[in-house]
Amino acid sequence: MKNQNTETQIVEESKKPFALPYKITCSRCGAQKAVRHEVLLKRLVAFKGTLEERYNEYAKTCTCQNCRRDIKLKAIEAEMNKDTNETK
Ligand SMILES: [Zn+2]
Repeated sequence: MKNQNTETQIVEESKKPFALPYKITCSRCGAQKAVRHEVLLKRLVAFKGTLEERYNEYAKTCTCQNCRRDIKLKAIEAEMNKDTNETK
């Protein structure tokens, strides 16, 4: 029993394997959203490095649906403003 305990402790301390979270935090509004690993993995394909590195990169830019919609709307507005400025 004593041996088993020390073994698991060493493993936990020396090598903590990276586990994908089941929740992602929006980098814009901080909302937490549940995410399935298959969905998350598909998004991580676009990044390079180890799983952990990919996830960290993704987490920096990750946005929730509300923010994505917001960003899209702002982009369209900016596009329209640009057009009106040009025609002036
Ligand atoms: Zn958000």
